[in-house]
Amino acid sequence: MQLISCPWCGPRVETEFSFGGAADNAPNEVAGAAETELKRIMLRPNVRGRQSELWQHVSGCRAWLRVERDTASHEIFEVSLTGTHRS
Ligand SMILES: [Zn+2]
Repeated sequence: MQLISCPWCGPRVETEFSFGGAADNAPNEVAGAAETELKRIMLRPNVRGRQSELWQHVSGCRAWLRVERDTASHEIFEVSLTGTHRS
């Protein structure tokens, strides 16, 4: 089981978090076109190795976090706040 260190709450088990996808595949508020949004949802990158991801601490502070993680080894390199939190 992975531990993700929330900047607000400290280290917590991954079951307290919800995966929000790759950070570079986040919704683009400017684009907005249905076809663009459909491609973003359906054509997700499937990187093996280091990737930046979005996770929400749903069972804690509800903050959205950017997690730098290796998708193969599950090693977590860095966790930071995205600026969208405490909703
Ligand atoms: Zn938290």
